[in-house]
Amino acid sequence: MRSLKKTVFLDRDGTLIIDKVYLNDPNQIEYLPGVFDALRLLRDHGYQFIVVTNQSGIARRLVEMENLDETHRRMQAEFARHGVDLSRFYYAPYSVESNHYIRKPNPGMLLRGALDHSVDLKKSWMVGDRWSDVEAGQKAGCRTVFLSGVEAPQGEADIITASLLDAAQLMIASN
Ligand SMILES: [Mg+2]
Repeated sequence: MRSLKKTVFLDRDGTLIIDKVYLNDPNQIEYLPGVFDALRLLRDHGYQFIVVTNQSGIARRLVEMENLDETHRRMQAEFARHGVDLSRFYYAPYSVESNHYIRKPNPGMLLRGALDHSVDLKKSWMVGDRWSDVEAGQKAGCRTVFLSGVEAPQGEADIITASLLDAAQLMIASN
């Protein structure tokens, strides 16, 4: 039997990189402060990482698929340079109105990731800067981190803080 892994599911825009709103140019990637230290800390505590990102810009034809793929390749390479393996990127290319089961706040990307990467959902976290991230995490049965700043909290999350590095320290302390 494969052993299950504790995992941090990460939102992309506003969590790992600055939210440029329909980022379509891989040269415009800008990492948020502390993200490499945060993920190294979590790595050292045994977590694997899966990125789950809504990309309705694909449906709206504001983001091209090849640019999205290149953005994710570059992010994977940059995190690898910092000693962090981003195991997988899942994206939901559907419109906001679709309510597609893989588009957050629905948990489809997390559940798919759990199957593909042997995730122990109960020991895992979803981290994001939108309340829809928290909802998706809760529906998948994960603990949740809400990065405050862009939106006001709309309910309970396990951790609410402004920075990913603070969040990482609190996540480890809460184990
Ligand atoms: Mg976000």
